[in-house]
Amino acid sequence: MRLELESLLALAEEGVLERGRRRFLQGAILEAARGRGRLQARVAGSSPFPYRVEIDLRRGGWRCTCPYRGLICKHVVAVALAALEAPEIFVRRRLGRASPIRLEPFLTLSEEELMRFLWGLAEARPGPLHEFAHHWLERHREKCGGGGDRNMADPLSEAQIQQELVRLPGWAVVAGRLEKTFSFGSYSEGVAFAVKVALLAERSDHHPDSLEIMWRKVRVAYVTHSAGGITQLDLEAAAKVEALL
Ligand SMILES: [Zn+2]
Repeated sequence: MRLELESLLALAEEGVLERGRRRFLQGAILEAARGRGRLQARVAGSSPFPYRVEIDLRRGGWRCTCPYRGLICKHVVAVALAALEAPEIFVRRRLGRASPIRLEPFLTLSEEELMRFLWGLAEARPGPLHEFAHHWLERHREKCGGGGDRNMADPLSEAQIQQELVRLPGWAVVAGRLEKTFSFGSYSEGVAFAVKVALLAERSDHHPDSLEIMWRKVRVAYVTHSAGGITQLDLEAAAKVEALL
């Protein structure tokens, strides 16, 4: 289905439209390209990595790597506006067949296969892997916490948490979250570890509140927002992260 940029913009909520316009006017559009009915660009935002946006006018689809859950985010709006009002910023070139990353094949790998793959990838391309891990976690962070076993998702008392922490060396409660900073011998080892944490989260359906990759350090923090505190789910996730090492 052929898509017109105007009809795409008409689908955006008023507030999103306004924020998207501001992004565009502030020059947040980076590396804009166009080819055979498709637009691709990166849009700078609050994330340390610009979000990637693609609009496929021929197929009538669009997507963005940001965690926004509505129909159209401000980044897609910014790219659509740029295409209408400043088409000259889009470099014309052949665009790669950018299909969304499918996670299923990763999830079926054995731990050993996964490690070999991640270590190799982190050595060869630490930057993109870091970006992937960051966006992935950001997207999946909010979907966890609710439902499931009630007891598992009840907030624990300070005493209960302290008792459990004995089994989790290095983990501590910081600003209401269960967190630990891991150190590594190299930047790429840290990145590979972070991606493993992301994959673990995807498998167990409990995601870290934040996963920060620093120079040879990775900080992992858990909290169950739906419970308003640290729960058994968080402690179990921390134990599983320990087991990755
Ligand atoms: Zn977006």
